[in-house]
Order: sequence, then C-alpha cells, then structure tokens
Amino acid sequence: MLQAEGQRINLRAPDPLLDPARLDALRELDLLESAPQDSLSKLNDIASAVLGVPVSALSLISWDRQITAGMNGLIGTTEVLDTPFSHSFCHHVVRAGEPFVVEDSRKHPLVMDNLAVRDDEIIAYAGVPVRLENGECVGAFCACDHKPRRWTDADLATLGNLATIAVDVLELHRIKRDGGMRDTLTGLPRRALFTERVRSMLDSDEFAMGSVTVVAVDLQAFRLFNEAWGHEAGDKILTEVARRFRDTTGDPEAVCRVAGDEFLIANAGPEDAESFVGRLQQMLASPQIRIDGVDQPVSALFVATTSKPGVDAAELIDDALATLAATKTTATEQAIGPLAGPAMERLRLRNAISGAERRDELALHYQPLLDLQTGRVHSLEALLRWEHPELGSVSPVDFIPVAETTGAIVPIGEWVLRRACSDLANWRAEFPDIDVTVAVNVAPEQVRLPSFDAAVGAALDAAGLPPGALALEITERTILTDRPGERRTIDALQARGVDLHLDDFGTGYSSLGYLTRFPLDVIKIDRMFVSRIGTDERATALIAGIIAMAHSLGLQTVAEGIEDATQRDALTEMGCDFGQGFLFARPSPGDDVPDLLRQFGG
Ligand code: C2E
Ligand code: MG
Ligand code: MG
Repeated sequence: MLQAEGQRINLRAPDPLLDPARLDALRELDLLESAPQDSLSKLNDIASAVLGVPVSALSLISWDRQITAGMNGLIGTTEVLDTPFSHSFCHHVVRAGEPFVVEDSRKHPLVMDNLAVRDDEIIAYAGVPVRLENGECVGAFCACDHKPRRWTDADLATLGNLATIAVDVLELHRIKRDGGMRDTLTGLPRRALFTERVRSMLDSDEFAMGSVTVVAVDLQAFRLFNEAWGHEAGDKILTEVARRFRDTTGDPEAVCRVAGDEFLIANAGPEDAESFVGRLQQMLASPQIRIDGVDQPVSALFVATTSKPGVDAAELIDDALATLAATKTTATEQAIGPLAGPAMERLRLRNAISGAERRDELALHYQPLLDLQTGRVHSLEALLRWEHPELGSVSPVDFIPVAETTGAIVPIGEWVLRRACSDLANWRAEFPDIDVTVAVNVAPEQVRLPSFDAAVGAALDAAGLPPGALALEITERTILTDRPGERRTIDALQARGVDLHLDDFGTGYSSLGYLTRFPLDVIKIDRMFVSRIGTDERATALIAGIIAMAHSLGLQTVAEGIEDATQRDALTEMGCDFGQGFLFARPSPGDDVPDLLRQFGG
C-alpha cells in the first residue's frame, strides 16, 4: 500500500525549514523578491556600531535560499541579495530555532566548509532567531567578524533586542502592504476591522433583541492538504471557504481570516449559536467544494462563544480563539477524503498508527550485535515492526517519523520497552550462561518527557532485570537541542545504570567531541560509512579515525550494516568492538532468538 507507481514513498522527519506554516508566514511578508530595506538596515548599522563588527545582516530563510532583508557591511545595496545555502550561516539558526554562535568558522564542524568563509571571510558569526508574533521563525539577525571572536552573553542580548525591533518593522511592513485592514487572499477584513464590526453589533439594536455569537473555525488537516495538492489549490480552497462563510452571514464585514486556515464569523440577533454553527457547517459541506475538477471535501472544527452582558468585542474574540486552540489540541483530525501523494500517505498513517500498540498490530524483531574479537553475541537490538490489517507491513522508516509528529510514539515506545525487557528476561532465564543485553531505539519525543526515566525503571522492574541489561539507542536529534529537560533525563538514565548508545553516528552534524559532553557509552557508526569499506579509502580512514577517537574518549564502537567479510575483517582490524549486520544475521522474530543465542552464545 505504500507503493505509488512502483516507487517507495519516503516519509522524512519534518525539517523546520520546510514547515508550511513557517513558509506561509515568510511569503506573507512579501519581501522575498525585494532589495534590502532601509529601515531594517539601520538596525544592522546599530548592531555593527555597538558590537564593533564589520558585518551585520537580517536574513530571511526560505526553504533553499537566504534573502538579505537588512544589512551593513555587505556589498550591493539596490539588488535583491539572494544567497544559496552554500554561503549561508543564518539557516542554521532557523533550523535550530535558537541562537547559533561560531567563534572561528575554520574550526567549526558545521560551517568549516561553508563557502562564505572563503568568499566573504566570515570567520566569527553570531545569529539569533527572528520570530514573528505568530511564533514562526522566518530568519536570523546576525553579526559577523573577519577574525575569530568570542561572543559574550551581552553580545547575544544586543542581537536579541535588535531582532525584536526588526520583528516590529517586519510586522509593520506587512500591515502597510495590505492596507492593514484586509486579507489580500480572501479580501476579508483583518482582525482589527472585524473587531470593529463585532463592537458595532454589541452596540446595536440586534444585540438588544438577542445575542452576539462569535464562531472560530479551523479547517481540518489543511496543512497536509496544502502539501498534497500544492499551495495554489490551498489558496483556492481558502477563497471558496471565505465566500461560503460570507454568504452564510450575508454580512461581508462579519467574517475574518485570522491566520492561515482559521476564520472568525460573527452573528447578531435572535438565532442561537447552535443553529448558526449548523448553517455554517451545512454551507461548508454542500455542495462539495470542487477545485480544478476534483471534489475536495473540507471539514472543519467549529467553536462558538456567545456574548454575556458587559463583555467587550476583543474579549469575545479572544475567548473564541482560546477555546478553539484548546479544542484543536484534543480533537483528532479526521481523514479528509481522496488525497494523493506522500501527504495522503502520511495522513492515513497518522490515523492508522494511533493505538497500534493496543490493537496488537506491533511486533519486535531482534538483530544480534556481536563482539568482533570473539564472535559472541553481546546484545540484541529490538526493531519494531507494524502489521496493519489494510496497509500491510509498514517499515519503521515510514511510520516512526509519523508517530513522532503525532505523539503516538510515546505509548508505542513504552510498549517496545516493556516487551523488549520481558523478552530478554525470558531468554536470560533460558540461557543463564549467556550475558546478553537488549538495545531499544528511543525517539527524542520520548526522552523529552520528564516521566521517561520512570517508564524505563518500571519496564526493568516489571521484567525483573538489572539496569545494565538495557541499552537505549538515541540519535543526535535527542541531544542536539541541548535542552535542560532532555539533559536531566539523560543524566537520570545514566545514574540509573542504563547504557546509552548513540545511533547512526556520522549522519548528523555534531563532532564526536561535542557528543561526549553527554554520558554516552557506545557510538554506532552508521551503515553509510561501513558500506564504503573497500571501495572508498576516505571512508575507511574516517572509520579508523572515529574508532580511535571514541576509544580515547572511553567509548566503545559498533559498526552497523556489515554485509560482507571484507567489511568485517577491516573493522576487526581497526579495533571496532562490536558489529551488526546481515552478514551475521538479519532481524528476526523473537521466536528465532533462542536459535541465535545457541549459534552465537558459545
Ligand atoms: P537503526 O536503529 O539504525 O536500525 C538498524 C536498521 O538497519 C534496521 O532497519 C536493520 O534492519 C537495518 N540493518 C541491519 N543490518 C543491516 C545490513 O547489514 N544491511 C542493511 N542494508 N540494513 C541493515 P529497520 O528495522 O528497518 O529499522 C529502521 C530504523 O527504524 C532503525 O534504524 C530505527 O532508527 C528505527 N526504529 C526501529 N525500531 C524502533 C523503535 O522501536 N523505536 C524507535 N524510536 N525507532 C525505531
Ligand atoms: Mg538502532
Ligand atoms: Mg542505526
């Protein structure tokens, strides 16, 4: 089912740069095709003067390029300054969603190969996020130096303050652009104008005869819809929805688009809220919206608030939006009909994965990690399998990223932990002479929860296992954010005595030196490097370097994806501690593990 025209659909983990809401906010600024703005460049002048740096800029970050919206010390003033990511430092700020600081770019793993180092002599860099009032991070405000520089907290605070002013300038720019009062796409009043309309309703005779109702609406799964059909089709839907709401009220000033796919509609008079919402729903549903010849069933979440005496217009609107926000987080999005492409697959998976652990659709397969010197089994990695009644067998590469975005990964992850621990307890009882452990993959979303350490403890206790029997495989994504919450959990797990393995090492951005600030025990060298042994000398040299460095830092190493004897022999020669791969055994169901233990145990 996950095949489209014979091609496997790759559902990647979400990249902040590609977030549709962020790109919408960026597009709304309408600066992507513009030359740097004088008003913003003045802020960069101030940054240069206060920090004593030759270069300061405000960069807007699109999904694949950087546009300079304000600058001091760069060449070219009247042209659009459009830079590819090969020359951009600022996109790292947006990707991380937090300040990014480089003391000497020639030594920084993330930017040492950046061409701005060579072409623009950007040696030191400090950038802070430029976050609009709606929370979307659209770019970075930065300072650069042509020589190494140690940035202070005060420097970052200055940049942060200037970025805040820059946001005001950007918001003003947007308001100025559409006259401030109307949404350019739908022609609907913006919030200020709408608030005026509600105010006049509250003051009017209609109110005296009944009440004023404000309905807040959120279109369901609209982002996914946009991804599936493209933004142009998305815009057409929004325009049509706006028209239908306007027709329902018969009052063009009583409908407002507050944000991307959120609307507000006001109604005054004797009609009660329930019947008004009913009319809106009816109007949205039929006749079915048709875009470019395709039926597009659009469904929406509606919440209504009704005026009480003494409530003013702004409060009434805030109330409606707050209720909508609260409802949205609990409402499960409904499937929205015949979509196509990866977004549709993701929608279907989103709905299907939730509760899979309760419906008995999950299973664990196990793959041994062998001691390369002795050939004996050291550990078993638990790899999750999902058998869906209709979708068939779905690969973890496809459903884990989806489960991560919906939060379904948390109960699923707990199921994996408990099952892996209880399976291991059984095998340890059956093979008391083999000191085997189990390795469980965990997602960043699990580690982020303060209760994660306790869940690990409960799984071990339930199985009667000592903490040393369990290893958790985390990826760089878990620790890169370097947030105090995750850090506390990781420290607690280490204190508990659970082993921590860093999975897929080499695919991320961090240097080994950085990673060892965390209490890791083992580094798993990604399959990508292992597969190049014998054909790419640099890969071989790199692995040898990683192993030597890991050992000098007191870490053990696992090579993933060993498929042939040449790779195994080279890795053994290099002193790699453990190996895992199809050469030894493919992942197999728990029933096969006793045979594996017999084969590799003695
Ligand atoms: P991973 O943790 O890096 O797991 C190793 C993957 O490499 C497994 O894919 C395994 O089947 C595959 N593999 C092992 N040896 C070889 C080899 O010699 N050649 C090749 N080509 N592949 C090999 P699998 O089972 O499809 O899992 C994919 C990923 O899904 C895992 O990568 C892990 O990141 C994630 N995953 C699996 N189970 C769980 C889970 O319970 N929780 C979480 N959060 N993620 C999981
Ligand atoms: Mg793993
Ligand atoms: Mg791996």
